[in-house]
Amino acid sequence: MSDIIIIGAGIGGLCTAVQLEAEGKDFLLLEATDRVGGLVKTDVVDGFLLDRGFQVLQTAYPEAQEMLDYDALHLKKFKSGAVIQYKNDFTEIADPFRDPSALLQSLFSPIATPSDKIKMLTLKQRLKSKTVDEILNEKETTSLKFLKDYGFSNRIIESFFTPFLGGIFLERKLKTSSRMFCFVFKMFSEGDAALPANGIEAIPRQLASKIDPSKIKLNSTVKSITKNKVTLENGEEFTAENIVIACDPSSFMKDVPKTKYQSVTNLYFTAEEAALKKPYLILNGNGGGLINNLVFLNQIQATYAPEGKNLISVSVIGNPNLSDQQIIDGVTEEMQDWFGPVANLWKFLKMYRIKNSLPENYALNANRSQSENGIHTIGASTSFGSLNAVMHQARMLSSKFVSGTEA
Ligand SMILES: Cc1cc2nc3c(=O)[nH]c(=O)nc-3n(C[C@H](O)[C@H](O)[C@H](O)COP(=O)(O)OP(=O)(O)OC[C@H]3O[C@@H](n4cnc5c(N)ncnc54)[C@H](O)[C@@H]3O)c2cc1C
Repeated sequence: MSDIIIIGAGIGGLCTAVQLEAEGKDFLLLEATDRVGGLVKTDVVDGFLLDRGFQVLQTAYPEAQEMLDYDALHLKKFKSGAVIQYKNDFTEIADPFRDPSALLQSLFSPIATPSDKIKMLTLKQRLKSKTVDEILNEKETTSLKFLKDYGFSNRIIESFFTPFLGGIFLERKLKTSSRMFCFVFKMFSEGDAALPANGIEAIPRQLASKIDPSKIKLNSTVKSITKNKVTLENGEEFTAENIVIACDPSSFMKDVPKTKYQSVTNLYFTAEEAALKKPYLILNGNGGGLINNLVFLNQIQATYAPEGKNLISVSVIGNPNLSDQQIIDGVTEEMQDWFGPVANLWKFLKMYRIKNSLPENYALNANRSQSENGIHTIGASTSFGSLNAVMHQARMLSSKFVSGTEA
């Protein structure tokens, strides 16, 4: 019998375990798959680092700053801003969050109006003066309505905010909560998006290195929970005073409503030559098409591709009702439209259809974590589904165990 059983070794479960380990608490971490990390995984294919879905670490995340050793991750940062593919042309917008005047670098910027620049500045100032907690408890509407009500032009909403936020929320109608938008805006204006040298999975690996390996049990899928007892699919049973569910409980608890998720399809291509030799994210500002965002990952973090090669990550929002080949052909055609005949030479490497990516964050309530009768539910299915959000839940819960209020 352990004092605490944690189910799921994603970021939520790992962060709970790290904090309990640091306090000398007795626990067991059960994980269904053969390695830790949950959604935060990297596969190595032909020497390329393929994160499962385009994912970044925001260096300004307050919880990540506490939980992670950034130096040991050897982070490399994106250039703040983006390159927008708009009406058959590429427009570079440097630093719109930290230096909104950069939005109008070119006098006749096709993606922003002079008033947008002022709005970016005032919003930046407003959010700077608020804590993350205050932002996540502000009056809430959809992100789209928030942007319109704030006075941003349709031009900047359609050609910048929609693909930029679409790639983060994994939906392009911007129905996601305005709280999430304000949080994301604050993070981008106060820090950088970054990639670890060994792929995004270096994050859970760093966390796991702080836990006694004998307390992590892999290949252990939980089938049911009754009061203090956890039963695995193979029939093994474990008991504990407290059970932390750090995964979606609906797969093994019948009375729990099913979480609705956004999905994303992520394709990787390799190239001998990079069409963009700057560490920028490229956004589809045109509206239609399959590609939402695209990035030459090795321009940000060189370790993502073997020397002399380039790795292109393409995000298609949702899980299109098309065959794999249709998606590959559609994306290839769009890349040819964007970059010209050079894209004919790019080779498809791998595709991931990630169905349960982020919870739909349309509804209210940033933190839906629960504690009842010794069963505690945290993780992406009960939060806004960011690394910071699940780390925050893990910290709040483990501090209760440490202080004895949940022991
Ligand atoms: C494509 C994509 C891009 C993202 N990009 C970003 C980003 O840029 N920035 C950001 O902050 N966040 C991003 N996120 C969100 C972030 O990665 C997640 O919110 C976070 O990793 C969720 O962690 P978790 O521990 O709650 O859940 P999960 O990662 O889902 O972990 C749950 C774990 O529980 C295990 N498990 C499930 N069922 C059982 C069972 N019955 N028994 C035992 N174990 C079980 C699973 O195998 C898994 O390991 C992204 C997510 C995706 C998918």
